[in-house]
Amino acid sequence: MRARIVLLTLVVCGLAPGFLPAQQTRLGNELDDLVNQQLDSLVATYKNLHANPELSGHEEKTAAFVANQLRSMGYSVTERVGKYSRPGLTGYGVVGVLQNSSGPTVLVRTELDALPVEEKTGLPYASKVRTKDDAGQDVGVMHACGHDIHMTSLLGTAKTLVELKDRWHGTLVLIGQPAEEAIGGAKAMLDDGLYTRFARPNYALALHDTNDLETGKVGYSPGYAMASSTSVDIIIRGIGGHGSRPESTRDPIVVAAQVILALQTIVSREKPAQDPAVVTVGSIHGGTKHNVIPDEVRMQLTVRTYKEETRQRILASIDRITKGIAAAAGIPDDRAPIVKVSEDYAPATYNNQDLTRRVVDALQKTLGAANVVEEPPIMASEDFGNLGLAGHIPTLIFWLGAVDAADLAKSKQTGVPLASLHSSLFAPVPEPTIRTGVKAMTVAVLALMSGGGKQ
Ligand SMILES: [Zn+2]
Ligand SMILES: [Zn+2]
Repeated sequence: MRARIVLLTLVVCGLAPGFLPAQQTRLGNELDDLVNQQLDSLVATYKNLHANPELSGHEEKTAAFVANQLRSMGYSVTERVGKYSRPGLTGYGVVGVLQNSSGPTVLVRTELDALPVEEKTGLPYASKVRTKDDAGQDVGVMHACGHDIHMTSLLGTAKTLVELKDRWHGTLVLIGQPAEEAIGGAKAMLDDGLYTRFARPNYALALHDTNDLETGKVGYSPGYAMASSTSVDIIIRGIGGHGSRPESTRDPIVVAAQVILALQTIVSREKPAQDPAVVTVGSIHGGTKHNVIPDEVRMQLTVRTYKEETRQRILASIDRITKGIAAAAGIPDDRAPIVKVSEDYAPATYNNQDLTRRVVDALQKTLGAANVVEEPPIMASEDFGNLGLAGHIPTLIFWLGAVDAADLAKSKQTGVPLASLHSSLFAPVPEPTIRTGVKAMTVAVLALMSGGGKQ
């Protein structure tokens, strides 16, 4: 038994290039056994979490559930980790630590929060939850991003790593992060001492489900994987008046229209074509009636970039263009536009190249090379990047296939897209997705903590 354990450890570390394929799959087989033992209970956990979603910033019961589960497995658990800048909001972050002699510290993150989406999947375990959102509106609530899959995978990984305690050394830090969808939960946990009250990690890992890959597969993007996301609010202030007498006004509607079109030149004219970025005006509100020129128009923008310097340059351009157009329209200085850049933003998600290579090598050996595929980076955003402290801690997030292979093939053939993340119809296939989620994350952690690799 002991010899077999050593052998398996070496395979996981990728230090045994001469090993036969049969030996390389042993860890996979052993993991299958361990995961199979838990699978019924994990699927029940998933359905329970799915049926009981909570909005960002309100993850009270979800956090308590995750905390209790980790505690029952022997993790040292701290609840309510998270300090938001907004007063009155409780941080429901969970930190579970398992110290297993000396070695690297590895952090694994799951999100806890759900979305204000009314579920329409018709599944027997569909969410029927309704609540009031922070604006007081009645909304349906749904785990439409699959964070319930992530929580379940984390709990399965937690249990499996307890069972495999003689294969790894170091400090395992499992966190349940609130308010990912609101972009702010990771920062709130850091601001509440995630890396000072608890061990600062040598590596941080996460997974996210996807409808681009079939169950059984995982995907990865070395380097930039997801973009930074910054919200910008603009108020174009004009001088209102009668709709029949524009000459007596400074019309903010016309200025807003010019600003929107001029903002499109930032991406096309002000940065290198090889450096991706997006500027989207997602909301515009102004005016009340046909024949009234209003005093102001409000706009909400999202800005996406990979590089921080590009983010800064685009934000400066938005400010310059908006104020310049307003000045050209004759709006006086004391009515100049207000351009407010949100301080809470998600940095780009960067997959450290060495870390990615190490984890991908281990995943390929255990899941099979065909099941570990490189994926192109995307312009969607995450706040997981915060946990890397601007590149000081290597981070890796990988994709977890969550849709049926036949459904995916049919979608590719017909061109009819599958229900995407955040859709009211998004329905990951629970059992095979969770199985691979637990296996993949366990393998990723073992690759970093089994003692054979460099730190
Ligand atoms: Zn999401
Ligand atoms: Zn998500």
